[in-house]
Amino acid sequence: MNEIERNLNTIKATIPKEVTLVAVSKTKPISDILQAYHAGQRIFGENKIQEMAEKWENMPKDISWHMIGHVQTNKVKYMAPFVDLIHAVDSVKLLREINKQAKKHNRIINCLLQIKIAQEDSKYGLNKEDALAILTAQETKELTNVHIQGLMGMATFTENQEQIKIEFSKVATFFKELQPEYPQLKTLSIGMSGDYKLAIDCDSTMVRIGSSIFGARNYN
Ligand SMILES: *Cc1c(COP(=O)(O)O)cnc(C)c1O
Repeated sequence: MNEIERNLNTIKATIPKEVTLVAVSKTKPISDILQAYHAGQRIFGENKIQEMAEKWENMPKDISWHMIGHVQTNKVKYMAPFVDLIHAVDSVKLLREINKQAKKHNRIINCLLQIKIAQEDSKYGLNKEDALAILTAQETKELTNVHIQGLMGMATFTENQEQIKIEFSKVATFFKELQPEYPQLKTLSIGMSGDYKLAIDCDSTMVRIGSSIFGARNYN
């Protein structure tokens, strides 16, 4: 058994069956992704649209590709033919463009609204009011080629477990408040390599794990 397969099995053993594992393969070569694929993994997350599109072209077509990074409106077209779930939607403008591109391919593209929970200013995301405004807007209901199926959050990059827990709980509570009114919201995407166990304690339904599966990333 190779190391990637071993890591994958170790992680799968620690997450409940009903929690979806997104294997975050950004910066990693196709050979690494194929090792995870041959070990049974079918959902992969990338944060650059062009990199994801190249991998999609060159890899088995039963892979579900998730865009987990910030999305620039002018690049939506490159992933519209195949992307399965876009995690970080944070504006109506972006939703409109996703809808337009999805329509061209006769698809409905699944989206999550990214909620800002971290304290750092640099993190993208919506506050609760803006997210609610998007969900409520008549315009959103008319975007028939997008399907908003949940929320996504990223905690502050810190060792402070208590703070991470507070941030995850914030988005989890919001998610539960919204569900009675918006039953299409089924996915709560929180948790990465360093904090996924905490996220699962906070009722995550989808974790995005990279370095614990593929090893540390090299950005050179
Ligand atoms: C890179 C990334 C991850 C995975 O991070 P790891 O710490 O390697 O597990 C998860 N979510 C997002 C949005 C990312 O950009």
